[in-house]
Amino acid sequence: MHYLIYVSQATKPMSTAELSEILEKSRTYNDKDGITGLLVYKYNPDDHRGNFMQLLEGPEEAVRSAFKRICDDKRHHTKIMLEDGVIAERNFADWSMGFKAVDQDTLREIMGFADLGDESFQNRAREGEVSGALELMKSFYEDDD
Ligand code: FAD
Repeated sequence: MHYLIYVSQATKPMSTAELSEILEKSRTYNDKDGITGLLVYKYNPDDHRGNFMQLLEGPEEAVRSAFKRICDDKRHHTKIMLEDGVIAERNFADWSMGFKAVDQDTLREIMGFADLGDESFQNRAREGEVSGALELMKSFYEDDD
């Protein structure tokens, strides 16, 4: 089973309706393709900026093909891969694409992710210096039980 986690920046802050539209389409495609995962959205009111972190898991070919489609989507840019590897089994089996909105407060205590979406985070991510993304995403799934 393959998984990947990337971060990106929304072209403009997303409304609830725009996020719902992305999720609805994602769930339809992912169900068909055997992909599960989680989309996290963070809005930062200080710089009026929206950022995504997304995990996709499933058969490698399906994950790579979905990721290519997602990368081509003009609703976000500055896509940076955090993790890309193999897992023994799915971690998000019940979610064709789960969703979690987070803010500065949610992430304040989470080491390495407090500045998610900021330039400082993006620079560390580009250098491969961000670790613990899978554990963070899994914690959102477990919290939902
Ligand atoms: P269409 O829906 O026809 O879209 C073609 C292109 O038009 C898109 O690439 C996009 O650039 C643009 N577009 C479509 N709707 C809008 C709109 N309302 N506003 C502006 N531009 C638009 N897809 C998945 O299958 N699985 C996922 O897990 C997934 N996650 C996503 C996460 C994020 C953060 C984003 C932004 C998109 C995600 N998508 C996901 C959507 C994906 O990018 C494609 O839009 C989707 O797969 C539909 O592909 P399509 O070929 O049917 O294109």
